[in-house]
This record gives sequence, C-alpha cells and structure tokens, in this order.
Amino acid sequence: MSRFLPVLFLIGLFFFMWLFLYAHQRREKQKRALPVREDFLAAHGHDEPACFACGKGPLKDEGLGSGQDTRRVVSCEGCNTLLYRYERPAAPEFES
Ligand SMILES: [Zn+2]
Repeated sequence: MSRFLPVLFLIGLFFFMWLFLYAHQRREKQKRALPVREDFLAAHGHDEPACFACGKGPLKDEGLGSGQDTRRVVSCEGCNTLLYRYERPAAPEFES
C-alpha cells in the first residue's frame, strides 16, 4: 500500500490543479460575457451600480487582461459576484 502513496499523491495533485484551472477558465469566460455598465444598470433598475447578490459592499475594479487593461471588470468586494464591464479610455501618454 505504502508504495502507491506517491502515485495517489500525484493523482490528487493533478486533480486539484485541473479543478483550479477549470474554475479559473470558467470565471474568465464569465468576465467576457458580462453586460456593459448601461445594460447592467437598466436590467437591475439602479442609478448607481450596486451588487445584486448581497446588495452592499464596495465594488472592485479590475483589468480584464492585466491591471492596466482599459477593458475593466467590476465585481463585488463582499461576495465576489461579477457585475459588469466597461471600457476605460486609455491614459494619455506623458510627453517629456
Ligand atoms: Zn455582493
């Protein structure tokens, strides 16, 4: 039995890595399918964006690809629900 333990450990490790990647891919797909800000506000009847799952909490603003991405994804800081996306105008280049 003990000589199978390393194999079982590796199988378990690969399974968790697969699960982690699967969850990550799923969330990335959900981010790209999010409604834009105007549609989100219209759909939930809000004037100001708020979380529709828990109804509270500050909102988190992240870049879609990287931190500086102009495509922004907004989620709830309290319950982590993805809310909407919007396009931020690119920051002007600094001239020296
Ligand atoms: Zn929430």
